[in-house]
Parts: sequence; C-alpha cells; structure tokens
Amino acid sequence: MKILTEHINTPGIETLEVYRKKGGYTAVEKALKKMTPDEVVEEVKKSGVRGRGGAGFPMGMKWSFLAKPEGVPRYLVCNADESEPGTFKDHYLMKNIPHLLIEGMIISSFALGANKSFIYVRGELMYVIRILEKAIEEAKAAGFLGKNILGSGFDLDLVVHPGGGAYICGEETALLESLEGKRGNPRNKPPFPAVKGLYQCPTVVNNVESIATTSWIINNGGDAYAAVGVGRSTGTKLISASGHINNPGVYEINLGITCDEFLNSDEFCGGVRKGHYLKAVVAGGSSVPIVPGSLFLKTANGEDRLMSYESLSDGGFATGTMLGSGGFIAFDETACIVRNTWNFARFYEHESCGQCSPCREGTGWMQKVLNRIEHGKGSMHDIDLLVDISKKIEGNTICPLGDAAAWPVASAIRHFRDEFEWHVKNPIAATQPGAVYMKE
Ligand code: NAD
Ligand code: SF4
Repeated sequence: MKILTEHINTPGIETLEVYRKKGGYTAVEKALKKMTPDEVVEEVKKSGVRGRGGAGFPMGMKWSFLAKPEGVPRYLVCNADESEPGTFKDHYLMKNIPHLLIEGMIISSFALGANKSFIYVRGELMYVIRILEKAIEEAKAAGFLGKNILGSGFDLDLVVHPGGGAYICGEETALLESLEGKRGNPRNKPPFPAVKGLYQCPTVVNNVESIATTSWIINNGGDAYAAVGVGRSTGTKLISASGHINNPGVYEINLGITCDEFLNSDEFCGGVRKGHYLKAVVAGGSSVPIVPGSLFLKTANGEDRLMSYESLSDGGFATGTMLGSGGFIAFDETACIVRNTWNFARFYEHESCGQCSPCREGTGWMQKVLNRIEHGKGSMHDIDLLVDISKKIEGNTICPLGDAAAWPVASAIRHFRDEFEWHVKNPIAATQPGAVYMKE
C-alpha cells in the first residue's frame, strides 16, 4: 500500500495544481462540508493509527484527551523537528509533497477545534520551510486556509515556525517552550500538553507523518486504514533506511512485513552490501536499543521478526529493539560497535539540555568512559561502570532523552560485550585506523 507516497514522484506534485489533479484537498472538502469534528475524530480512532514520531501513542486517543474548557483556545502543533540520528522521513514528505501535510493540518485542526496551528520545523531545514510557506500561500489563495474555509464557517491560520537546531526541541514540551520564545527545556509531565500545552492552553502535538495520514483516512475510512498492517500496528509506516545496505532511502512499508523482506528485497533495502554480512541493527533511530543482525531478523523464539511496534520489541530490551521513529540503520561486520556507541554518546552529551543531573552528568560521563575505551585507555571496570551509569540515568529524568542516551550504551554492552573487552585487552590493535573486532 502506498498511502503517503503514491504520488510523491509525480513531477510538480509540490504545487497545488498538480496535487489537486491527483485528488488533493478532496479530504478537506469531505471533512469540512460533510462531517462534524467528532466524526473526523471517530474515523482517526477507528484507523488505529499510532503516533509516527516514535512513541507510537494512538493518535485518536490523544485527540480525545484534548481538554475543551469554554472560551479557551486550543492549538494543534505539528512536530516537524525531526532530528533523531538515522531518521529523515518527515523531511522527505515535507520537501516533496508539502500539500499532504497542509491538507492534514486543516483536517486535524478542524477535528480538534483549533483556529491557529503551527508547524515547527527544525532550523537546519530552511529550504523546507520555504517550500511549506509557498504551499501555504497557494492553499490560502485557493480558499483552503484563512476565514470561513469552503463556506464551512471554520477559520484556520497556519504558521510555519523555524526551530533553532536543538535536538531537545523535538521533545514535545521543549518544543512548546521554544515556540513560546523561551529556551527549549522540557516540562514535567503531567500535565500533558492535551491539558496544558502552548500558552498553557490545551494542545495536541502530532508528528508530520501522523498528520499526513489523515487525508487518506478521511477519503477511505478508518476501517480501510485499520485493514492494512498487523494487529495494533495498523497502516503503513515510512522507514528511513541508511548504513551498509544497497539501497539507502525512504520506504513506505505495510506494517507487519518481515524484517527479512524489508532488509533483503530489492523493493526496499536490497540487502547488505555485497561480500558483507549484517552485524547489527538500530531499527528506530539512535535512541532505541542496538541488536545483533540475527535478533533483528528472528525473535529469541526463532520466529520471523516483523516490522511492527510489537514484534520489534518482542523480548523486551533483552533481545528486542523498537520501531521508534523508523530510523533504520544497518551495520555490517566492518562497523566498530564501540566507536558507534561513543559517537551516539557524544551526540546525547551535546544535546542534553542540562536540566536534570542524571542526564546532564551521566551523558558526559558515558561519553568520557567510551572515549577512553575506544582510544585504548579503558579498563574492564569501565565496562561495568558504563552499565551502572546507564541504569542510574534510565527512568530518572524529566524527559526521554535520558533513556535515549542510556539504552544504546546498555544494549551495545549487553549484545557486544566481547567487542568492548577486546578494546580493553588489545589497546594497540584497537586504536589502529579502521580496526574492528572480528569474532573468531
Ligand atoms: P510519550 O510516550 O511520553 O508520549 C507520547 C504522546 O502521547 C505525547 O504526545 C504525550 O503527550 C501523549 N500522552 C501520553 N500519555 C498521555 C496522557 N495520559 N494524556 C494525554 N496525552 C498523553 O513519548 P514522547 O516523549 O512524546 O516521545 C518519545 C519518543 O520520541 C521516543 O520513543 C523516540 O522514539 C521518539 N523520538 C523521535 C525523534 C524524531 O526525530 N522523530 C527524536 C527523538 C525521539
Ligand atoms: Fe534535559 Fe536530559 Fe533532563 Fe531531558 S533528560 S530534561 S534533555 S537534562
């Protein structure tokens, strides 16, 4: 099924004219002219679509949590701050087919009763911001935005807001702080944004891909969406695939295909590059556990692992990873797990906002200890120290960045401990350019 990407390669699809020729904005017409906001919410609930930013929280349920106090404005904020290492699927959608997101924003704002909505785009993507602004102008000129859209009585002002390039501003409450013009420090939850969000008003924060699904759901019905996929992982998912594979790129998959099909079929990754084998996989962006290739393909029970929220995390952190944001990274045997873990740790140390001690201090310590091991100055005790620090960060911080920093380290040591030990025992060999531990 191609729910989001069917028309993405059509020349000119970024323009309103071509987008309309391919059926664009019919869902807005249907929602605003023939449906009530509650009916739109109901279809999204029926679809079972889960948040595509990474957490996988059911979108319709999130919408139904939105508080509706009398006389208080509500907001819809699209999280387009995609910054997770290995994740580049929202970028792909926005630059190629911006009207799909704008159409989704109109439908979703209508459903939620929001008259002012925001798309918060990571600051590095200035050219995407220009593309979105141009598309918004076109939509406004055609009467899809502004006052009394299509004579429905519904008004919507849609604003594109650039972020400042901080990863933490992708965390929804940090994003809201940043949107309010403050430093992007995450807030404690609860209260959730659905109760107290932007300017302390009820707010829904949804990812780009999640919002983009709504046009198809309205046109085809929530049940039709729910018929695609497997179990509670309904619909399709965009996966950005990178690393040692033959066909890096962004793919729309039916949730529930096997991991083997995703990795090896020519329709998707096209297999690991010739002459090499799959050593490890990060299935959902750098924040999720890293697993050996064998555990990505098969569960601990020897069953085929599926590309779904449930199957990828089957076995918990002992043997599973997570679908997360769909940032799939493949590593063949030439990749050094210690170096990669240190690289991720440097990223999280740099991006920690510094508000809570376990994350601020712990990310720095993990980075320093990994640096020691990678550069031939580590001890066996350092390996246990890393596990200890990761445990002390996990679950003890205001926002998920702490867990995101801890899991890659803990999982790398769990599954590749011999590689860490090899670095400690063979400091000279391990620090040669391109040196990689090869299992006997
Ligand atoms: P979360 O599970 O805390 O929340 C998910 C969503 O559900 C939020 O919008 C939250 O407000 C809402 N929610 C949860 N319980 C609620 C309740 N009781 N009432 C009302 N609303 C409720 O996760 P999160 O912090 O939003 O996201 C973490 C995920 O983000 C990670 O798993 C990671 O995969 C992902 N991530 C993605 C990127 C990216 O670039 N796409 C970057 C970093 C992290
Ligand atoms: Fe900031 Fe890290 Fe605490 Fe999140 S976990 S609030 S990034 S210090």
